Amino acid sequence: MKAKLMVVGNGEAATRFLESLLSIQAKGFEITVVGKEPQPAYKRHLLTRILQGEVAMEDAVFQDSDWYKSSGIRYYSNESVLTIDTDRSQVKTDRGRKVRYDHLVIATGSSPYLLPIQGAGKKGVKTYRTLEDCRELIQTSETYKKAAVIGAGLLGLEVAMGLVHLGLETTVVHHQPNVMNRQLDRLASEMLQEALAANGLNFALSKRTREITGDSHVKGIRFSDGSMMEADLVLMSVGIRPNVELAKKAGLEVHRGIVIDDDLCTSVPNVYAIGECAEHRDVLYGTIGPIYEQAEHLARKLCDLPARYTGSMVSTHLNIRSINVFSTGQVLETEETRTFQWIDPIRHIYKKVVTLHGHVIGAILYGDTSDALRLTQLVKEFAPVNEIPSNTLFPNVSRDRHNLKLVSKKFLSSGAGQP
Ligand SMILES: Cc1cc2nc3c(=O)[nH]c(=O)nc-3n(C[C@H](O)[C@H](O)[C@H](O)COP(=O)(O)OP(=O)(O)OC[C@H]3O[C@@H](n4cnc5c(N)ncnc54)[C@H](O)[C@@H]3O)c2cc1C
Repeated sequence: MKAKLMVVGNGEAATRFLESLLSIQAKGFEITVVGKEPQPAYKRHLLTRILQGEVAMEDAVFQDSDWYKSSGIRYYSNESVLTIDTDRSQVKTDRGRKVRYDHLVIATGSSPYLLPIQGAGKKGVKTYRTLEDCRELIQTSETYKKAAVIGAGLLGLEVAMGLVHLGLETTVVHHQPNVMNRQLDRLASEMLQEALAANGLNFALSKRTREITGDSHVKGIRFSDGSMMEADLVLMSVGIRPNVELAKKAGLEVHRGIVIDDDLCTSVPNVYAIGECAEHRDVLYGTIGPIYEQAEHLARKLCDLPARYTGSMVSTHLNIRSINVFSTGQVLETEETRTFQWIDPIRHIYKKVVTLHGHVIGAILYGDTSDALRLTQLVKEFAPVNEIPSNTLFPNVSRDRHNLKLVSKKFLSSGAGQP
């Protein structure tokens, strides 16, 4: 008899998991998927590129409805799982459906966080997470003139450039002095800001939002220093919170996310969690690289193949128009770290590798990201410094690694800042 496999959520983690599982063992499971969103799975990570006009909406389809049918998957869209009864191995949905399982996979993702400030509930204050959000923003963009995007992380900057593409005068508001301050050092951040500004984006940095002003509809933002800015659209991009309520109610161990072990198993046997809702060794992941790795490991595990998930290396890629930025691992210096830097001020290329006790622990690439994969691997392996591909990464530089630090004074004095 086939094992009953129930999957809660139909996002990127769930779909990658099912694809992997079916590629290993096409007929071993009786699969049911329940997903809250109305359409078959799509690639959420492409949503900002749709807004920027670089990817068509159709290209974001992960799997269409025919795939579920041809794969023998029972798929219920527009439906939410309300409860999990781990004693009876059964879930219940908001349509009164009851589904029994032998294995349960929770892949409920995250929800955008809204700043708990006065006016956050006004019309015109939005977040950006779903295909519906994307459609709505494209359809209604002509009704807005001035947009403020709160948050200068990867997502905030990508959405903001999408709004510029839609013709809105757009300002990124950030409480820190530098954009992408968690992934970049000051020099890379300033180079990025300069490039985005040249593409039409405005910035209000070191500004803490205190209140969204207006009557029923947003009219602007008041900052904690008392200054104001006008906006008829405010998009908050200030972080995400894992969707853990279902797991909590079911009595599973939950910290910030649903706690899983190296088998991707929760505190209850045969109940697994993957994707943004899961917390592995105290780490939450929010990009597709690690999430796909979890999905593939779980597929192998359920097919009784060797699979132990020990964590993923996180790297960040920003791709806006021709601006390419990559960062991985620890990018800021401490007293113990050593840094190799290289700058081409003409072509606006900046490369930096951070090492600790002779081993690679982090890197930034700006402008030329062709060594991104190799560097991710080096950081993951805590590789020795002599494995840095210096010929390609740091061209025209002495092979003597003590001379590798080469920061162009001319570039720094051109206003791009210092690392
Ligand atoms: C706009 C945007 C751009 C991004 N760009 C990038 C990028 O360039 N690179 C990158 O690496 N990452 C990017 N990401 C992050 C990446 O898309 C996510 O990490 C990934 O999609 C998360 O997958 P997931 O399956 O864990 O969650 P989700 O894709 O959120 O899927 C979870 C699904 O479960 C459903 N669900 C929740 N609760 C229930 C329930 N009780 N019952 C049934 N269904 C439920 C939700 O509605 C949702 O459809 C981006 C994210 C966003 C929002």
